[in-house]
Amino acid sequence: MKQSRVWHPNTQMSEWSDFDKIVRGDGMYLVCADGTRLLDGVASMWCNVWGHSRSELVRAISRQASTLAHSPLFNLTHGPAEELADKLVRIAPGMHRVFYSDNGSSAVEIAAKMAIQYWANIGEPKKRLVSLDNGYHGDTFGAMSMGYIPEFFSRFKNYMLKVDHIPAPNSYRPTRRHTEQNDEQMCLDAAERRLAQGDVAALVMESGAQMAGGVQIFPRNYQSKIAKICKSHDTLFILDEIATGFGRLGSMAEYVAQHSTPDIAVFGKMLTGGYITLGATLANKRVSDAFLGEFAESRHLFHGHTYTGNPIATAVALENIRLYDRYSLIRRVRAASGILAGFIEEISRRRLVGDIRHKGMVMGIELVSDPATRAPLRSTQSMNRIVYALAKKHGVYLRTLGNIIMLVPPLYMSTPQIRKLCTSTLKIIDELEQRF
Ligand SMILES: *Cc1c(COP(=O)(O)O)cnc(C)c1O
Repeated sequence: MKQSRVWHPNTQMSEWSDFDKIVRGDGMYLVCADGTRLLDGVASMWCNVWGHSRSELVRAISRQASTLAHSPLFNLTHGPAEELADKLVRIAPGMHRVFYSDNGSSAVEIAAKMAIQYWANIGEPKKRLVSLDNGYHGDTFGAMSMGYIPEFFSRFKNYMLKVDHIPAPNSYRPTRRHTEQNDEQMCLDAAERRLAQGDVAALVMESGAQMAGGVQIFPRNYQSKIAKICKSHDTLFILDEIATGFGRLGSMAEYVAQHSTPDIAVFGKMLTGGYITLGATLANKRVSDAFLGEFAESRHLFHGHTYTGNPIATAVALENIRLYDRYSLIRRVRAASGILAGFIEEISRRRLVGDIRHKGMVMGIELVSDPATRAPLRSTQSMNRIVYALAKKHGVYLRTLGNIIMLVPPLYMSTPQIRKLCTSTLKIIDELEQRF
């Protein structure tokens, strides 16, 4: 077989000599070169909304590409960037201005730069960033520093920015010395103690749930209490909605459902329906106004990317949002969420299943070798490799996060397809039980 020159993400290349080659998308399916059709159970890394090759989105791309493929937002503007910004501040109540970038990691780093420069601009010495243990905000150094998942980041620890981490609630594996009963309160107390020191420029966290941290869904009022703690200590509150917003957890802006308005909100992933990469960092009036002044005062935001606000990406995001309205997608997601929920009981009866966490259109199924000790299921080959191969036999595309099977379907997946995804997952777990 010809040696592939592609270095794949988060992948032990020696374990994968034989990647399936996707030749086209067809609705909710990815079609392999050998003809296998894979139901996209992870929304192509959590970003696909309508399935693949959706005609309205394809037309929006081709229309925009033939009119204007790219012109910068440096000194200039264009229709799709303007119109999308208007739409986004309506989707994200309390937000005032939109800064575009080309991926989620950059968008999070921009949020941090905004917060740091905000305090510099208003002449107050708040300098520290605080974020949650087990968070994930992207793979570039700044984003890694704000997240921290030891398995992903430990090699780079000495090179990261100084960000202080506070414990995050975890219903299945509470932080050491916490119990399941006092976990949330201990986490809130830790936030209170850290912010009370008065030096924190911003607290950064994912909105609603820690996704890459293993679908850790926050307790009901936790996020709104964190928002209050930020407010009482005059710390900017940054919410990363990249994975959880745009309907993944059942709301357009998850922070609305969580009764917690941030100062800066970050969107990515499903923003374009999964068709072109785009990030958006939204700031409220307080933050964005602090960047106004005479040119010579140098208060403007020192940041910009070549493809900032690319016309094709912003045009397809606009069309994506139109489709959300036209198909009442959020209402549909809430119904579809019930279909997923209907499988929880059956899945949880499996011996290898330690915990199931579900909200909206995401489910994390945690596999353990022993439910009593909660020891994660492990093997020399990666679980991901094993589960991928089993899932392929059932015509489904899955990628696990360590020992957690992630079901993250495109939001518009039909009821029969969601059922197929769940019944296939049950069979996959049964097959795993014969091995472990
Ligand atoms: C995926 C993700 C990011 C990073 O986005 P990229 O586009 O992969 O750089 C940041 N935050 C969260 C919560 C994510 O899930």
